[in-house]
Amino acid sequence: MEFDYIIIGAGAAGLSFAALMEKRGYKIAILEAHSLPGGCSSYFERDGFTFDAGATTLSGLKEGRPLHRLITELDLKLELISIDPGIVFIIGDKKISRYRDPERWIEELTKKFKGINHRKLWSKLKQIETRGWMLSTTFKNIPLRSLKSLLSFFSVKLPLALISAPELFRSVESELQKFHIKDQSYLNMLDELLFITAQNNRQETPLLMGAMGLCYPEDTSYAIGGMKAFSNALAAKCSTIFYRHQVQKITPIKNGLDGFTIHTVQGVFKTKKLVSTIPHWNIPDLFEDKKVKDFFSSKKTFAPKDCWSAFMIYLTVPLNCATESLYYQIHCEGIPFCSTKSFFVSLSHPADSTRSIKGRQTVTISTHTKSSEWLGLDNVEYKNKKEITANFILSVLKEKFKLQENDLQNIVTGTPRTFIKYTKRYLGLVGGIPHSLKRNPLDYIIARPLYKNFYMLGDTQFPGQGIAAVVLGSMNLVDYLDK
Ligand SMILES: Cc1cc2nc3c(=O)[nH]c(=O)nc-3n(C[C@H](O)[C@H](O)[C@H](O)COP(=O)(O)OP(=O)(O)OC[C@H]3O[C@@H](n4cnc5c(N)ncnc54)[C@H](O)[C@@H]3O)c2cc1C
Repeated sequence: MEFDYIIIGAGAAGLSFAALMEKRGYKIAILEAHSLPGGCSSYFERDGFTFDAGATTLSGLKEGRPLHRLITELDLKLELISIDPGIVFIIGDKKISRYRDPERWIEELTKKFKGINHRKLWSKLKQIETRGWMLSTTFKNIPLRSLKSLLSFFSVKLPLALISAPELFRSVESELQKFHIKDQSYLNMLDELLFITAQNNRQETPLLMGAMGLCYPEDTSYAIGGMKAFSNALAAKCSTIFYRHQVQKITPIKNGLDGFTIHTVQGVFKTKKLVSTIPHWNIPDLFEDKKVKDFFSSKKTFAPKDCWSAFMIYLTVPLNCATESLYYQIHCEGIPFCSTKSFFVSLSHPADSTRSIKGRQTVTISTHTKSSEWLGLDNVEYKNKKEITANFILSVLKEKFKLQENDLQNIVTGTPRTFIKYTKRYLGLVGGIPHSLKRNPLDYIIARPLYKNFYMLGDTQFPGQGIAAVVLGSMNLVDYLDK
C-alpha cells in the first residue's frame, strides 16, 4: 500500500490524471506496458527522425478548455505554435483552407462552394460548439452517477442544458438539410472532418458532438518537439512510472474495499485505489471475476465491429513542399483496404529544429481502416496488402504535393497490428468509440462502475475521444476524488 493510486497506462489519460493528482499531494505510480510514454499520442525514432506515432495535433487550448487548464495547472514547459489554417482540405484540384478567423473562413467557403448560406450554417455550428464546451467543462458528473448529480445537472446552467439536450438526439445531417446543400464534395468535406473527430458520418453523429468536431480546426496547435515533447512534458510531472510493466491480472481484495493486487510481467503491486486508462475491451481479460466480463459484454454499443483502427504511413519529405498549413486532409476515392474517402497528413513544423532536420520534414499519414482487414493474415498477404495501400496513398500524396519518387524517404507503415504491438489495444482499435445516435446515452459507462475503489478513464470512457476529451475525463475524476 505504498501508493494512494496506481494507474494502468501512461497515455494522455493516465499521465494527465497522475500528474494532476501528484500535484495535489497524492502518492501515485503508473504501470505502463511500453518503454515510452504517450500511448496513441506517443512517438518513435528512426534514422535520426522523430515521428508522431498516432495523434499529431493539439486542440482544446483556448482559455477554459481542457488542454489550456492542464498546461496552466501543471506549468508544462511546451512551446506551442497556433496553426492557421488549422487544416487544408485538398479535394480534386480545389484547396480549402480552414482559417481560424470566422470571417476569413466564410469568405473562403463562399469562394470555393457557391450557393450555400455558409454564414448562417457556421454561426449555428459555432453557437452549438460553444455551448458544447461550456456544458462539458461545467458538468463533471456525466454520465450521471446518482440522483444528487442529476439535480446538479439541472441546477447548473439549466437554460444551456435545455437548449442543448435535443442536439444530442438529432444528427448533423438534420441541420444540414435545412441548407439544401447539393454539392457532394462539400458534404464529403464535412463527413471526412467528422470522421477524424467524432469518428462517424453526418447522418449518425449527434449535432452537439458534431459541431464540436467540425469547429476543432480553429483551435489547433503544434508543440515544438511534436508528441514527444507533449508526452514527455506530462511524464516529467509523474515521479513514478514503471515502464515495460504490462498488467496481466488484477485481483480485487474484498471486492475492492481493501484494494487490489496487480500482477505485471515484472512483479506484483498492491494499491488501495486503482485507475485503469486502457480501453474497455481490454479490461475483462485482466479479471477472473465473471461480473466484469458480464458487465462489458452487456454494453452492446461498444461492439468492436463498429469501431476503427488506422492505417499509418510515416516518412520524410523535403522542407517546404507544403506551405499553407501543417495539416492536410487529402480526399480520394478507393483507398485499398481502408474505409474513408481521405487521408490525414501532418508535417513537422519547418522551424522545429528537433524534428525538421537534414533539410526534411517528418510526416505522419493516417486513415481509417477496419481491424478485420489486417488481422489473421499470413505474413506474405499482410506485407502485400500493406504495400498496395501505402503505394496508393503515396502516389496521391506525390501528385498533390508535387513530389518525385525519391523525395519520399524513411518510409515506415503501420496497421492495427502495429497498434496492438505498441499500445496493446484490443484488435488495434483506436480513436475511442464513435459518437453515434445509435448509442444510447444511458449506455455510457460511469468512471466507477465495478468496484468501490476502481475507476476508468481514457478514450473509450466518457467523454473520451481525442486528447482534449481524454484529459477532460481525467480532470473531472481528479475534481471528484479530490473535492
Ligand atoms: C492515428 C491517430 C491519430 C490521432 N490524432 C489525434 C490528434 O491529432 N489529436 C487528438 O487530440 N487526438 C488524436 N487521436 C486520438 C488520441 O491519440 C487518443 O484518443 C488518446 O491519445 C488516447 O489516450 P488514452 O490515454 O485514452 O489511451 P492510450 O493512448 O491508448 O494509452 C493507454 C496506455 O496504456 C498502455 N497499456 C495498455 N494495456 C496495458 C496493460 N495491460 N498494462 C499496462 N499498460 C497498458 C498502453 O501502452 C498505452 O500507453 C489520434 C489517434 C490515432 C490512433
